[in-house]
Amino acid sequence: MNLLEKLDAAAAARKAQLPEGLAAFGIPIDESYSATEARIGERRVLMLGTNNYLGLSFSSECREAAHKAIDREGTGTTGSRMANGNYYGHRALERELAEFYHCRECIVFTTGYQANLGTISGLAGVGDVVLIDGDAHASIYDGCILSGADVIRFRHNDVVDLEKRLRRLGDRSRNTLIVIEGIYSMLGDQAPLAEIVKLKNVYQSTLLLDEAHSLGVLGETGQGLVEKARMIDEVDFITGTFSKSLCGIGGFCVSNHPQLNQLRYISHPYIFTASPSPATIASTRAALKLLRDGYSLREQLWRNAHQLYSCLKETGYCLGPEPGPIVAVLLDSPKQALTLWNGLMAHDIYVNLVLPPAAPEGKSLVRCSINAAHTAEQIGRVCETFSKLYPAVTQ
Ligand code: PMP
Repeated sequence: MNLLEKLDAAAAARKAQLPEGLAAFGIPIDESYSATEARIGERRVLMLGTNNYLGLSFSSECREAAHKAIDREGTGTTGSRMANGNYYGHRALERELAEFYHCRECIVFTTGYQANLGTISGLAGVGDVVLIDGDAHASIYDGCILSGADVIRFRHNDVVDLEKRLRRLGDRSRNTLIVIEGIYSMLGDQAPLAEIVKLKNVYQSTLLLDEAHSLGVLGETGQGLVEKARMIDEVDFITGTFSKSLCGIGGFCVSNHPQLNQLRYISHPYIFTASPSPATIASTRAALKLLRDGYSLREQLWRNAHQLYSCLKETGYCLGPEPGPIVAVLLDSPKQALTLWNGLMAHDIYVNLVLPPAAPEGKSLVRCSINAAHTAEQIGRVCETFSKLYPAVTQ
């Protein structure tokens, strides 16, 4: 089979798995009206599948900052941070993120994906070990591949399994990077951070925590799981993204280790790509201020998350292990998941569909994301619709 025939075979296999399912992926959003509503074709749809956790995507402060930056500095930097793309705003955002986490170092990357790729491959190399949670995001897997280190997976959120693997490594545990996430993107559950920190101290490993989905969501000032668990001095490296609660695009790594700065000279995903645009940086800086002062937004987000989680649970749906802004409905087959997804779309509700192998444990997921801008009425409508569809989905 040549290269193109291989792609044809992959397309045919995908089509055979669930022919009607293809329409659910990459659906065109024709117009975006607000943090909760959009137009898809002729439909005005309630968006329950974004990562816009604090509902800031239309905030006037962020939009104004972005407009001003375009007028002042143009649309793009046209270059890498290492060359002509290292503007004042990138450095200011690095200082502000470092200060937000009370850390001495911060590096801003062009996406959250590249933050993981660049940090993991900058820290670990051939001969080292990266120990990753079984539900880790693709950017973590890809960072491991780029690093050339030996990659070992431990069972999702299972500290007993993690300890077993650290013990087996013997002396190599000191050259081991453990990578976990604050809130896991598929099931929405949180890492047992305090227990993992204990292990990393016993085995003298290094810990990287990806707060992509927990930044803005957990902790008094929104730092993430690290703040909720009061572990800022115990976690070696924190990565995160601007593409979720900060409503921009970009990523970062913060640390108290001065060595983080060396990544600027060795990390290809930092060096060999253009830096984020001035507008992106400006809106992210404005959003970070709102996030930091956003205690009441976080309270609203959690009220909304509990409302959705408890009503879907009462209806009888099988859900991810704990309430949170990601409410994953677990279904036994892709067909059931598609029936639910189509039913919700027919009622003008957009959610994310996740089919194997992307979903954990061979399950299929209808993955809802709630945000602080959803109203109780909107969530009530979602609950009613889920309840109406329950018999058809579970028959
Ligand atoms: N880490 C996790 C856990 C994620 O879920 C994502 C995005 N889905 C990323 C990193 C990458 O973020 P970005 O969209 O900024 O590339």
